[in-house]
Amino acid sequence: MKPSIEAVGLSRVYGRGAAARTVLDQLSLRLWPGELTLLIGASGSGKSTLLAALGGLLRPQSGSVTVLHTGIWSLSDADLERFRFRHFGFVFQGFNLFPALTAVEQVALPLKFAGVAPAIAIGRARDALDEMGLSARSKLRPALMSGGEKQRVAIARALVTEPDVLLADEPTSALDSANSEVVIGLLKKIARERHATVLTVTHDPRLSGHADRIVEMRDGVIISDERPKSHKDIA
Ligand code: ADP
Ligand code: MG
Repeated sequence: MKPSIEAVGLSRVYGRGAAARTVLDQLSLRLWPGELTLLIGASGSGKSTLLAALGGLLRPQSGSVTVLHTGIWSLSDADLERFRFRHFGFVFQGFNLFPALTAVEQVALPLKFAGVAPAIAIGRARDALDEMGLSARSKLRPALMSGGEKQRVAIARALVTEPDVLLADEPTSALDSANSEVVIGLLKKIARERHATVLTVTHDPRLSGHADRIVEMRDGVIISDERPKSHKDIA
């Protein structure tokens, strides 16, 4: 099997001169479809920067990122934007939902941007919400939903375009432990059932039991890369 993402020699430095800080230091990483990988490490270790470089959001100063045979940092800005839309889904800590829209409208939005007919977009948004266990909440606005529900809406919105790669930056850090377990379980289900490549930043050690693989960063490099015992069979 080929990796769905291959990053080679990624470097990123912030600031200059005496203030320069190396946040990604010649980092290489391969990720595989069908797996949930957790990215852990202390605050400031470079996790968000890595996710952004892998997802085509922040250009590394050197190195390459190949996603499904495409060198994403060699694309023009317009092509990169299209590629990102077609192949990536993103989930962030803060949900980023629109207060005025119902759950089903939030989830339909990316499809509407892509020019999908409204009735079809709404139908697919309902399916994505069903998959997240939110059928009964589809007409609610964010103010009436719990944090866990809001994050599941945000995941449904990331899923509705059927991305090959789902990148989530601390999706559970605003949630209690029960909701965190639910969210991470859903991310694993997405990896399994859709054969998606899922990379999730977390600093919650309780979630590690769900991971196929755990990658740890420190100071811009990977210091460990392990598969929990129960998954050794697919290593
Ligand atoms: P993590 O997600 O692991 O906490 P980040 O990738 O967000 O780490 O950041 C790594 C380091 O880079 C931190 O020390 C942070 O302060 C610094 N950093 C992040 N973004 C910027 C920026 N835009 N300008 C300058 N420094 C930054
Ligand atoms: Mg971060």
